[in-house]
Amino acid sequence: MWKENSLEPENWDDLKECGKKMLEEIFSYVEVIGEEKAWWPLSEKDNKRYQECIPQSGQSLESTYQEYVETVLKKNAPMNIHPGFLGWVMGCGNPVGVLAEMLIAGMNSNVIGGMQVTCKIETEVIGWLKELFGFSENASGLLTSGCSQSNLLALTIARNQVDNECIQEDGIARMDKNMIFYASEERHHSIDKAIEVLGIGSKQLHLIPVNERYEMDTDALAERICKDIQEGQHPVGVIANIGTVNSGAVDDIKKIHEITSKYHLWLHIDGAFGAMAAITDSYQKLRNEISLADSLAFDLHKWMYIPYGVGCVIVKEEKKHYEAFSASSAYMEHQDIWFSDYGIELSRDFKALKIWMCLKTYGLERYKKLIDEDIQKARYLETLIQESKELELLSPVSLNIVCFRYKGNEADERKLNDWNKRILMILQFEGKVFPSETTLNGKYVIRASIVNYKCQKSYLQYLINRVIEIGNKLR
Ligand SMILES: *Cc1c(COP(=O)(O)O)cnc(C)c1O
Repeated sequence: MWKENSLEPENWDDLKECGKKMLEEIFSYVEVIGEEKAWWPLSEKDNKRYQECIPQSGQSLESTYQEYVETVLKKNAPMNIHPGFLGWVMGCGNPVGVLAEMLIAGMNSNVIGGMQVTCKIETEVIGWLKELFGFSENASGLLTSGCSQSNLLALTIARNQVDNECIQEDGIARMDKNMIFYASEERHHSIDKAIEVLGIGSKQLHLIPVNERYEMDTDALAERICKDIQEGQHPVGVIANIGTVNSGAVDDIKKIHEITSKYHLWLHIDGAFGAMAAITDSYQKLRNEISLADSLAFDLHKWMYIPYGVGCVIVKEEKKHYEAFSASSAYMEHQDIWFSDYGIELSRDFKALKIWMCLKTYGLERYKKLIDEDIQKARYLETLIQESKELELLSPVSLNIVCFRYKGNEADERKLNDWNKRILMILQFEGKVFPSETTLNGKYVIRASIVNYKCQKSYLQYLINRVIEIGNKLR
């Protein structure tokens, strides 16, 4: 099938046929995915299976594809592409994105920077995203592999504000200032990772308590900053949440901005999924608040439904962004925008195309509507919970995440934790709907996060009925 000394086929028509078959079959798979279970565990036997030796001589593409179907696709639980999936915060993708991925691979462009059209498209897409969140022309942005990476880049820039030259040349070990960052107890763990990777040290990430809505207690933040300054420490930045991972809580950005302005601190917003709510009419207020930030990190593979993995970081002042990451080299002198001057990666894929194609094809209005509907679905779930005698809502529904548990008449917390753990396990094994878990205030929580345009209300109705049914049997 393959030409001598080449990776290309002897006959391109055969390859095209094979490609058409793959495309048709993967779309057929996605089309009826709701008929499958959302999740199943890999069997003991299968678990041991994926340890073959490296293939020395090749085989036909048809054989490899068949192997993929049997050993990968059929064994893989659909999870986040299933309409009943409500776990963690995972986007379900979209069919235009599938095609875009194919085109991206076909072009195989390396989007480092320069005058190529691929760079123009990324710049255009970043421009759209800046506008969505109310940032000006002077802001800069970069597409990343996801929000963890975006958080890391943003906090690097924040850290370097203390003394960019010293940090870049001497390293932070030589600094005489003990820099402090602040985040709420509900922050995402990628923030802790970033703080550790940046050499700041997790002890210098001061955690601020949250109020009963799981939002950062801004009085406590201001007090802590004052206290740290009095003790000779050096506050640098605050990380605020729009959409905490546990319960979707939205911090009071305006209040936090007043504090960061007063003390000249960097304001970073982790809006991994929650920032997208700002594009809807009902959350317009968020857009103004987001634009107060010095930097914003968010994902496109979560609530924008772009195929994994793509996130974005936006920085209010381009110069600061550039200074943190630009490095010159004799073999790569340049005048145009080079994306490698705004992040860690040099070679980069053409992620921008999937965003560009999805936005062009579906249009922003459709996205607004889908995000709005997800929020409505969460409210609907909240109502079902409030109307039931057996269930208890465990956090306010700020966006698209609903935290609840089966309660019955039971007051014993240990028993309740145990019951709800068992309910969740049964639900997940049944695979019709797939919520995940968390803990709030020591209480075990069944958590439904709706970043799923395929999830109809009937799935939510089913979830509630089934939790009550299982719970009633346990007690
Ligand atoms: C998912 C998430 C992240 C990390 O994003 P990745 O794309 O998984 O790297 C960070 N913060 C919050 C609030 C998240 O929900």
